[in-house]
Parts: sequence; structure tokens; C-alpha cells
Amino acid sequence: MTDSGSPRDPSLPVEPSLPDAIAPESGAAPEPLDGVDPMDGVWDVVVVGAGPAGSSAAHAAAAHGRRVLLLDKAEHPRYKTCGGGIIGPSRDSLPRDFKIPFQDRVHAVTFALNGRYTRTRRSRRMLFGLVNRGEFDLRLVEAAQQAGAVLVTGVTVTGIEQQGGEDRRTVAVTLADGRSVQARAVVGADGSASRIGRHVGVTFDQIDLGLEAEIPVPEDVVREWAGRIHLDWGPLPGSYGWVFPKTDSGTLTVGVISARGDGERTKQYLADYIRRLGLSGFTPSVESGHLTRCRTEDSPLSRGRVLVAGDAAGLLEPWTREGISYALRSGRLAGEWAAQVAEAASPTEVRRQALNYAFAIKAGLGVEMRAGRVMLEAFERRPHLFHAAVCLVAPAWRAFARTTQGQTTFAQIMRQYAAARRLAAMASR
Ligand SMILES: Cc1cc2nc3c(=O)[nH]c(=O)nc-3n(C[C@H](O)[C@H](O)[C@H](O)COP(=O)(O)OP(=O)(O)OC[C@H]3O[C@@H](n4cnc5c(N)ncnc54)[C@H](O)[C@@H]3O)c2cc1C
Repeated sequence: MTDSGSPRDPSLPVEPSLPDAIAPESGAAPEPLDGVDPMDGVWDVVVVGAGPAGSSAAHAAAAHGRRVLLLDKAEHPRYKTCGGGIIGPSRDSLPRDFKIPFQDRVHAVTFALNGRYTRTRRSRRMLFGLVNRGEFDLRLVEAAQQAGAVLVTGVTVTGIEQQGGEDRRTVAVTLADGRSVQARAVVGADGSASRIGRHVGVTFDQIDLGLEAEIPVPEDVVREWAGRIHLDWGPLPGSYGWVFPKTDSGTLTVGVISARGDGERTKQYLADYIRRLGLSGFTPSVESGHLTRCRTEDSPLSRGRVLVAGDAAGLLEPWTREGISYALRSGRLAGEWAAQVAEAASPTEVRRQALNYAFAIKAGLGVEMRAGRVMLEAFERRPHLFHAAVCLVAPAWRAFARTTQGQTTFAQIMRQYAAARRLAAMASR
């Protein structure tokens, strides 16, 4: 079966075009690598998309001794609309010896309820770190290469065909230039507008629109923000805003996220937020937007020899829309199970390995997503309860801090604390 169609959702605000960062959408064939044409032969694993999910998958499959080809339409470093918040579970899922290119380390959070009732909470221990995604993703790609994966950039995957008939052991991955690559297993990690996800039949029950501005500010303003973020529980149901300082590059990443469908009000929220923060006098270097999508609980995670991971699979924390740790964790699992799929000789064995992947995802991230949905539902109805709890109730602040540090999870909090369950139940009534 072949997929086709536009990779971009028409309602999606354009991601910034950075001619020097994004490789041309070339019809040209990729350059041979050291005289070897990557289009030749059959790869064990082809990974589509070299974001955190794809690089993780490529790293894991290569570490299992498989021949891995990692494809991306962009040339790294590339811009990605993202706050770049690296929470504990992200840090814990990185390849060994990976050095995170932190722009800042967060020790304090200023909370606001739609611009009011501001309160700053501090932690002696670092809560989480902030990165520029271009830099972070480049390092992840390099780590995958060091593990043995072969990277080809500037190639857009346009379709995928699982061979039927005699040879059911290969998948053909078609590129925009009409050529194709053969693989024993494919990992689709091509982001939230994923073509591979469409082929697999991934379905979503939550789609949000995130808008961001990268705002370069003078040194004295950067200093004010160093080590501190701002979180604003917003005026639209389930919405919130953030300021994530990228101190080393003198930039504040200011963003908002809200359910898709009311783009104008989301835009207005961002403009109001920037104004209220006293930042509207500074000209953003980048303004962009992107959709985030959460999978329905029964959405498929594979089809034949093709697995999906990260945003492509709709794996994202529903309340915070945190996705880097989901991408890293699911990417690694997808790489490990794709390594097994590549060895599978029969459709039954392929199915068994793909089911193992689905089980691993559902038992871990699936449980987390379920808890996140409960949190979001409660938060949508009573954001002020969340605000009061995190600002005024010490255990609630500690739970927030421990979650960002990776010492607990929303699911664990719901299991352990009757008060959290009561808060969620009360808020969603
Ligand atoms: C406004 C906003 C703020 C966010 N802030 C945070 C945050 O602070 N912390 C956090 O954890 N998460 C955050 N997220 C979520 C996070 O950005 C994503 O969940 C994460 O990037 C998912 O990683 P990925 O590898 O699955 O996909 P991506 O990072 O999107 O990578 C996909 C890759 O696939 C490539 N690709 C796409 N299509 C093709 C194709 N057809 N052929 C070849 N290559 C292709 C792309 O070029 C890209 O490199 C935010 C999201 C938004 C929208």
C-alpha cells in the first residue's frame, strides 16, 4: 500500500523558513556516502525522521548491531518549534555519556493565573533544564551516528510500501525524488504530521495548537530570567503559557498552547501574554506554530514491519504537552523492537515483535497518558484550583517539582495520594 498526500496539515501555521537551516526540498538524489549509495541493498532498519524519537530509535537499533539508515528532510541543526524543556525522564533516557547542551537550569517557577495572583516558587535542586532544539537534536543525531547509524539528510519520504506476495520480508520507503530504499523494518519518527503514522493508521483524540516567539533580549533582561521560568494558566480551556529563558543565547522562548480550533484566540493569548510580561518592545527573531497530537488509547503503534514512535505515534503528555521524553523513550523502544522485527522471518514473528513493542508502550507511556488526560480534564474546568494548590500547598508544589525532576509521575501521584485523586475528581465535576 502506498501513502501519498501533503505532510503538512493545512490548518498548521507555518514553521519558520530558515533557508540556512533547512535543507532544500530537493528532487536531487542523495549524495553517495563514502562511495556507497545508501539506496543500494536492503537495510535492517530505516528510521524516518531524525528528531529525538528517530535518533533514539537509530541509536538503539545500531547498538543492537543492525545496519541502520536514518533519514531526515531537514539538514541539522534545524529549527523546531519547541520550548526545549528537558525534564528528568528526558535526561534519563539519553544515550550514555550524552552531554546536554543546556542553555539554562531551572530552579524557580513563577506561576500566574491568566496574568494574576503571581507567585514564585523555588527549589534548591534543579527542576529541569532548557535547550535549543537545533543544538540538542544535532547532538542526538551525532550520538546515533557514533553508534553506527548512517545519516542522510535533505531527503523527504513520500510513501511506504509493504511488500506482499513472494517477498514479505522488505518494506520500500519512497523518497520525493522517486527513488526508494529497502528495509527489513521501518521506524516512523517523522513528527506530528507524520506520513508514516498515516500509513500505520494512527488516530488522535486531542489536537492542540502551540505558538511560540523566540525573543532576543538585552543582557539585563536575560539576567532577570536566569534560572527561572514563567507558567501562566491561560484564559482558554486547557491553555497555558510559558517563558523559557535560553540564557546562553540571550533569548526568551515565549509560547502558549491551547486546543486547536480557535487559532485567533490562541494568537491573541500569546500577544496579551507577551505584552503583560513587558516584552512586546522586543522584536522576535522567530515566530512559529505547530500542532501537537495525542493518540487515542487504542490507536495502532505498528503495521506489518513498520513501527511508529514519538509525535508520529501521538505519544505526548496530554496535560503539559511535554513530548521530548515521550519521543526519547518510545524511540528507544521502537529501535530495540525494530531490531527484532528486522530478524523476523515470518509474518507471525513480525506480529509478535510488533506486539511486544505495543505492549511496552502501553504499559509505560500509555499509563502516563491516561493519568495526564485526567489531569487535563480537571485543569480545563478548574485551573484556579491547580494554581492555588501549586502556589499555596507545599505537597502540591513538591509533587510538581518531583515530577519535573523525574522522581515521580502523574500516574504515581494519582496512585499514591488520595488528595490528588480528590482534587482531580472535584475539578472535573
Ligand atoms: C510550541 C511547542 C512547545 C513544546 N515544548 C516542549 C518542551 O518544552 N518540552 C518537551 O518535552 N516537549 C515540548 N514540545 C513537544 C516536542 O517538541 C515534541 O513532542 C518532540 O519534538 C517530538 O519529537 P519527535 O522526534 O517525535 O518529532 P520531531 O522533533 O518533530 O522530529 C521529526 C523529524 O522528522 C523529520 N521529517 C518530517 N517529515 C519527514 C519526511 N516526510 N521525510 C523525512 N523526514 C521527515 C523532520 O524534519 C524532523 O526532524 C513542544 C511542542 C510544541 C508544538
